[in-house]
This record gives sequence, structure tokens and C-alpha cells, in this order.
Amino acid sequence: MQQYISSDFKLGIICGGQLGKMLALAAANWDITTNVLDASADCPAGKVSNLYTKGHHLDYDAVYNFGQTVDMITFEIEHVNMEALRALKKEGKQIFPDPELLAIIQDKGIQKEFYAKFDIPTSPFKLYESKESILKAVQADEIKFPFVQKLRTSGYDGKGVAVIKSTEHIDLLLDGASVVEDAVDIDKELSIIISRNKSGEIKCFPLVEMEFSESANLVELLLCPADASEDISKLSEEIANKIAIELDLVGILAVELFLNRKGEILVNECAPRTHNSGHHTIEGNITSQYEQQLRAVLDMPLGDTAIRTPSVMINLLGEDGYSGPVYYEGFNEILKISGVNPHIYGKAETRPNRKMGHITVVDDSLEKAITKARKIKETIKVISK
Ligand code: ADP
Repeated sequence: MQQYISSDFKLGIICGGQLGKMLALAAANWDITTNVLDASADCPAGKVSNLYTKGHHLDYDAVYNFGQTVDMITFEIEHVNMEALRALKKEGKQIFPDPELLAIIQDKGIQKEFYAKFDIPTSPFKLYESKESILKAVQADEIKFPFVQKLRTSGYDGKGVAVIKSTEHIDLLLDGASVVEDAVDIDKELSIIISRNKSGEIKCFPLVEMEFSESANLVELLLCPADASEDISKLSEEIANKIAIELDLVGILAVELFLNRKGEILVNECAPRTHNSGHHTIEGNITSQYEQQLRAVLDMPLGDTAIRTPSVMINLLGEDGYSGPVYYEGFNEILKISGVNPHIYGKAETRPNRKMGHITVVDDSLEKAITKARKIKETIKVISK
């Protein structure tokens, strides 16, 4: 068996944002050499990985040539040049998760068809070629309000998603090939992270609950554990297991779920990588999602995912009205509170709603952690001076 620790082995990480940075930090703990591919030389992960390669993840040559310099490739993003990955795989490069799994996730239309094919509960949907074809279907009463339009490719953090409640909102329609799905009457948004190694060992992290900010469409508070019944937790695990097995996952996968007001669980979407909804695992769980990704792709025994302590995660987003060199106002103030764990990603410039860092608050009860998290949100501001 390959020994990855303190060896010549090089793990390639495609894209060097915050997820890549935390993965590289986990790898550094075990002296596993990392090389990060990113278009920007001052990307967050580039500051902590052993090696950095300049190049864009959607560029064939950049991805292909990068592949030649590493022994294995993993990702912090699912949108990667597919032809380059397929060519590398053909040559025998180890790539986890598999490029064909990424191909399913990259396109929300194919992703939804995958759920339908394997009877995985998801909101009913239809695929459309363009804005015009959606408008026609609305006029013909084929699409009923309220509905949600999602661009099949290129969406992230809620961009590329339009919630159309009635004819008044029709101007919000986006142009491009889309999934149109029934709007879910959402009671809670939940997430479950699952990992599977090459040997087939599989483990879920406990279910978490997300509170969204209406304006930014980004997670406001993430709560672990979720306020959900045993049955809901069990069902979510079963769904995640089924997806991981049908996708033949090797690596880590975040499954975003809706609990509707009828008490049903529906899959919103999946991400085949570490996820914003798993940041809290660094302090809140026995094994972090980043270490778990390493264990999974390197075919090591998976770590214990149990909760160490209740935790609340808040994103540090750029304040509205500030763009430019970043300043974290109130940083010292929040450090006076016990159980506060800030993670500053190292992005030089702030912009409105840009994810600049996160803070995980741990306490012996979730209620206490929530109270602290709300206070922290009022105290720290990501601005530019
Ligand atoms: P992204 O990939 O950009 O994160 P998502 O598919 O997760 O986009 O959608 C973003 C948000 O839009 C979700 O978190 C949810 O609040 C809302 N949303 C998405 N799909 C639906 C739906 N079918 N019904 C109601 N709200 C939805």
C-alpha cells in the first residue's frame, strides 16, 4: 500500500479558495505534499500548500499539464475542464471523485435526471432550452406558479437561480438552458455530508440546519446538530447513502436537502467536495470534513464523524458598500468570547457579500452557541478602510 505521509507523493488540488486552503492545511498536518492549481497566485490555498501552479480550472492545457505534475487529483470545485480530466484518467491518473461523477453534478439538468432515475426524492422538474421556451410554457399553463428556475450550468451561491412566485416576478427569468422545478414549501434547509473511500467504507456527518439570509442568498447561521427528528436524520442518511453508492463516490459529497411543510425530505442538489455546510466540523466534530476528504481519496480508514460539541457557523461576508483592501473591524472584540474560532481565508480584497471567512462558535448547548453567534455577527464587520 502506498505510504502518503512524508513521501514523494503529491496531491493535486484543483482550485485554491477557502475549501482548498482548509484541505491543504489538513494535508499539512500529516505531511502530505499538496500542489494547488488556481488562476490567482494569491489565492487562499496558495499561501498554505507546498506548491502552487498558476492556471485556470476550465482551461484544458492548465488542467492537463497540472495533472502531469501530481500523483492524484482532487477538487474544491466541481466545474473543471472535463476533456482534460478524461484525458488524464485515460492515461491512468488517479482522480477522485471520478470525472464522470463531476459531469453529472456540473449540469443541474443531468443531476436532476440522475435523482429521477434512481428514485431519489426531489422536487418535480422539466428541462427547457431558453428563457423563451419557459415563457411559452408559462403562457400555455404547462408551468404553474410558484416555480424555481435554475440555469443548468454556471450557477453558484444562489446566482443562476430565480424564484418565480407569480406573473409579477416573470422579469426575474434568466436566459439559458434551465431546470424548472416546483417551488418547495420549505420548512427547513438541511445538509448532510457523506464520504466514501475507495474500499467502499462509507460514513455520514450528522445532519445540519441552515438559516439563509434573504438578501444575499447565503447561509446566515449553520446549526449543528439540526433541530430534526430521529426519523428525519435517518432518512437523510439513507438518501445520502443511496446517492453516494449510485454515483460510485470516492471522496466527499454534500447533499443539500429541503424539509417541506408536509414533513417530506427532498434533495435540492449535491456538491462532490467539501462544503460551506461542513466548516463547523473542524471544531465541532471528531473528524473535520477536510481530513475526511483526504482519508477518502487516499483510501485510508474514514474518521469518526460524531459531534464533539454543539456548534454554530457564521460566514464572514463583505459588508455592503465596501470594496477594496479588507479590514476586519471588531476582530479583537470577538476574541474575548470563549468558544469563538475565526477562520480568515486570506482574500486581499473585500466586496459586498464576498465570503471572506467564517467563525465557528462552540458551546455546551446549541442555544448558548446561537446567542454568542448573533452577538458576534453584530460585532465583527468586514469592511475596507
Ligand atoms: P446554488 O447552487 O446557487 O447554491 P441552489 O439550488 O442551492 O443554488 O438554490 C439556492 C437557494 O434557492 C436554495 O438554498 C433555496 O433557498 C432556494 N431554492 C432552490 N430550489 C428551490 C425550490 N425548488 N423551491 C424553493 N426554494 C428553492
